[in-house]
Amino acid sequence: MTEFRRVGILGPGLLGGSIALGMEKLHPKVGVRMWARSAQRVSEIAAQGFSHATTDFDLVVGDADLIILAVPVGAMPDLAKRLIAAGVGGEQFVTDVGSVKVLPHETVGAPLKAAGIRFLGSHPMAGSDQSGFSAASPDLFEGAPCILTNDGGLPDDDVNRLVAFWSGLGARAAVMTGDEHDHLVARISHVPHVMAAICALVALENEEDGHFAGGGLRDTSRVAGGDPAMWREILSENKAAVAGPLRQGAELMQRLADLIEGGKEEALEAVLEEAQVRRRRLDNDL
Ligand code: NAP
Repeated sequence: MTEFRRVGILGPGLLGGSIALGMEKLHPKVGVRMWARSAQRVSEIAAQGFSHATTDFDLVVGDADLIILAVPVGAMPDLAKRLIAAGVGGEQFVTDVGSVKVLPHETVGAPLKAAGIRFLGSHPMAGSDQSGFSAASPDLFEGAPCILTNDGGLPDDDVNRLVAFWSGLGARAAVMTGDEHDHLVARISHVPHVMAAICALVALENEEDGHFAGGGLRDTSRVAGGDPAMWREILSENKAAVAGPLRQGAELMQRLADLIEGGKEEALEAVLEEAQVRRRRLDNDL
């Protein structure tokens, strides 16, 4: 159960909106306010039934005991400066939801720490290929992993408070370093996204061929439908961890092409069998 009594969310998109709606549904006694950078967005969100969005930054962060940065990672350093300027500190606590973790610790965690503000990284591994408040769901985090990173070395009690917060939204929290996180998600999220993009580009070289495609192509390429600008940002921010496994994938593709072309059927089947075993274990793990 979360100990936080007032939560301030900066960024009213898919992630920020889902946290707000999840808190309203599961913890109605906790006060939630959400900051948006434009009045137009505030009106749109009010029209969708959430009345606690505002452009008043100081109102949102002033009395929040948990402040959540739910904007693109590149936009976070400016918000960190605004938090410092707004006098955030004391018992207040800041986290983010960025899809990479080393960078926010450098660009947000370090300046906040220097200003005496507590920061922990969070990455709820939940999302969709939609963006914005209209795609937000109170159930987005139900059953999803959420990785917490404590590169700033906060005490265990602080980490446990944030673990309890994410657990209270239904997530399964785990703690690791930012570097461990970035290498992990490179393999389990970022490289799969690139492979889905390759799949869409190769399979749909002639777009009209998609007319004949079955579920396999749709399943394999689904995440390639995500926002290219967001994915450009994620892949660039995690380039050091993504490049290695991506090259590993390219080598495997080259090897498979050689095996297929050379008629090495047994070796080909062995690779496919290993993939089958790993994929089936993934389902059993869930
Ligand atoms: P989103 O739906 O596009 O929402 C992003 C929000 O950030 C928008 O409300 C946008 O405001 C605001 N914003 C963008 N640039 C800003 C700036 N310079 N200053 C102030 N506000 C700004 O994106 P999202 O999916 O919620 O992603 C938010 C964060 O969650 C990102 O760091 C992303 O890496 C992370 N994340 C995403 C997923 C996913 O699958 N989508 C999963 C896990 C983590 P406007 O409404 O005015 O445009």
